[in-house]
Amino acid sequence: MHSLLSQEDLAFKAHCEAFASQTLAPLAKKLGDINDVPQELRTCLAESGLYGPLFPEAYGGTGLSAVRICLAREAIAGVYAPADTTLAMQGLGGYPIVLAGNEDQKKKYLPKLAAGQRLTTFCLTEPEAGSDVSAIQTRAVADGDHFVINGRKRFISNGFSADMGVVFVKTPTAEKPNALSAFIIEKGMPGWNVDWRIELMASHDIVEFEFNNLRVPKENLLGPVGGGFKLAMQTLDLMRMSVGAAALGMARTAMERSIQYARKRVQFGQQISKFQGVSFKLAEMAVDIEAAQCLVYLAAIKKDRSDPAASLSSSIAKLHATEAAFRCIDQAIQVHGGMGVVKGAVVERLYREIRPLRVYEGTTEIQKLIIANHLIKQPK
Ligand SMILES: Cc1cc2nc3c(=O)[nH]c(=O)nc-3n(C[C@H](O)[C@H](O)[C@H](O)COP(=O)(O)OP(=O)(O)OC[C@H]3O[C@@H](n4cnc5c(N)ncnc54)[C@H](O)[C@@H]3O)c2cc1C
Repeated sequence: MHSLLSQEDLAFKAHCEAFASQTLAPLAKKLGDINDVPQELRTCLAESGLYGPLFPEAYGGTGLSAVRICLAREAIAGVYAPADTTLAMQGLGGYPIVLAGNEDQKKKYLPKLAAGQRLTTFCLTEPEAGSDVSAIQTRAVADGDHFVINGRKRFISNGFSADMGVVFVKTPTAEKPNALSAFIIEKGMPGWNVDWRIELMASHDIVEFEFNNLRVPKENLLGPVGGGFKLAMQTLDLMRMSVGAAALGMARTAMERSIQYARKRVQFGQQISKFQGVSFKLAEMAVDIEAAQCLVYLAAIKKDRSDPAASLSSSIAKLHATEAAFRCIDQAIQVHGGMGVVKGAVVERLYREIRPLRVYEGTTEIQKLIIANHLIKQPK
């Protein structure tokens, strides 16, 4: 599979892996469980060069590359999941501006995001609108030079720490009562409140926002009125495959830990790796991981080539890699026996960290709907 990557991409992969093991792993040990993005993590990510592939060169990035976004997430997610979340959100909140921003918006926001000077987020989900985006209730109403936004956004990652975000809200018209529009919002705008810091099963900066007469200048409208749904889906098309990459990184860490443990743990007078019941689990993990890697890289390569099949491949990669990683990590706990469920064990942490990946950016069931829709739509 590596032969599909260019020499430059392989060099970037090596850079990400070195960053993960030499810089991020010690920081992860120091910071431990966090539900925000501390300054040290901000600085570490800003200096890592990993934000580069999320942004075009003209705006401070190293050139948009789905392959490199995936390689970065694969390298860091198994080492420190909160760092992966921050990186992913920089993409989810930045890519809509790359896609739909006008020149002023791009110049104002993208270089600071690419440099990690500002953190951003992506606000789509609401209490009554998860899988069903059409159920969004948050609304924007034009008022002079502003739009006034009222409503709530739930499960917003990076939400506590982000300095800005992109929010998708209803802007209904008589012809299009469900029209969505996107806006760039900035912390400090009166009417934007963090209403609930949600505590998850694993470390995650995640909140519910309340927008109470949030006044957003008209120049912060991102793309045309009514263009929000398409923009949100295009953004998810890019980032979904990278969720698969993060899952892949977590699964690989679990497999490596299992191999180490199975070699050293002795029962019945021999290393447990010599029992077929254990070694088969390692083999099954390797198969799941290699298949996931192929699907993730393939989806990313298609995306970078603007292949129209990239969207289908992105859902396939996300679905397979997240489900496969969950299986691997569950098996890794089994290989570790009781030591696998001790709080603080790496595989115990991974078990909690992998679970939300099967839910966010479209649940496994929603990926199946997307994949099936693609198949049914395809001409014979
Ligand atoms: C850790 C985490 C981080 C997140 N970060 C963000 C973020 O930064 N920004 C953001 O906007 N959102 C974010 N989300 C929200 C996430 O995208 C939603 O949780 C997800 O889309 C599912 O929506 P829901 O939770 O409302 O579940 P629901 O949509 O209520 O689904 C509940 C169950 O019903 C199933 N279901 C629903 N509809 C169908 C259907 N048509 N066919 C079959 N089954 C169906 C689902 O698959 C699921 O099993 C995050 C969520 C989590 C857990």
